[in-house]
Amino acid sequence: MITTVVLNPAIDVRYSIDRFELNKSHRCTHYQKTAGGKGLNVSRVLRILGDDVRATGFLGGNSGEFIAGELHRLAIENRFVRIDEETRTCIAILSKDLTQTEILESGPFIKKEFVDQFLTLYRKLLDDTTVISASGSLPRGLEDDFYSLLIEEAHKKRVKFVLDTSGLPLKKAIQARPFLIKPNQTELEQLCGKKLSSEEDVIQQACELYFAGVENVLVSLGAAGAILVNREGVFKARIPKIQAINPVGSGDSMVAGFVHAISAHSDWEHALRYACACGVANAMEEETGKVNAETVREVLKKIDVFGAVSK
Ligand code: ATP
Repeated sequence: MITTVVLNPAIDVRYSIDRFELNKSHRCTHYQKTAGGKGLNVSRVLRILGDDVRATGFLGGNSGEFIAGELHRLAIENRFVRIDEETRTCIAILSKDLTQTEILESGPFIKKEFVDQFLTLYRKLLDDTTVISASGSLPRGLEDDFYSLLIEEAHKKRVKFVLDTSGLPLKKAIQARPFLIKPNQTELEQLCGKKLSSEEDVIQQACELYFAGVENVLVSLGAAGAILVNREGVFKARIPKIQAINPVGSGDSMVAGFVHAISAHSDWEHALRYACACGVANAMEEETGKVNAETVREVLKKIDVFGAVSK
């Protein structure tokens, strides 16, 4: 069983309109409402790949009910703690002149009683979890080192912890030695506090994170592929050129691919190739955080992994 940790889920609402203008009313016939957020994307892709998945975190109000309905439809086991505030909604307004306007709710404040409920549940879930995959930001009410706490609990039960987050929660989590982190270049730059202008710079920073205790540092580089640093060395994955349709959620699909492979006891090289194949396959779909399993198999054959430098 793979457990996904989704502490700050969201409903994503997307309005597509001809021309967005301030101070105007817009009638909209093309809109979508989906269970969104990074962790839910990871959960969805894992299900497509055939894994047993359960998701945990915090859900509340009617928006929480909507997400619970989606989990049920996708056969993802719902182990969320119910809270007394509404789960957030994030709105994106897409205009045909290619502008995108976003309104992102900050989301609920998680009271201590719910945090305690979650921690008790999380410790129990660890007992039959192969891999934990935690993604996204932390909701208000949780300390910046909350992921570190979850990683330490996972260590006690020898469960691998994969973390895809950014900013301070990521920085704090490094000290707790997660099994894998997956920053993109921007997140890596934020983490080290400087611009990384070459592949060598990226590799050097990834190596520093490895030496700080992260077992696998997977840096995603969009259409340029990915770099993995672990105890075997530094590796680069080269991906095929594709006509990308919507690359949003490719990072989440990549995480799902890696988690899928390691929970099936694949070696790291296969996991890296599989992760990239899922990222590429997501970019070929219109829907965010979705892959076609047949496309993943096809793309997998076209991914090269080679040693970048030896440490
Ligand atoms: P997101 O936050 O939207 O989930 P990300 O920034 O975390 O994305 P990316 O680096 O954009 O992640 O992409 C992850 C992986 O997906 C890449 O390493 C690559 O394998 C694949 N990918 C992303 N964009 C493209 C693209 N335009 N063409 C081909 N493959 C892509």
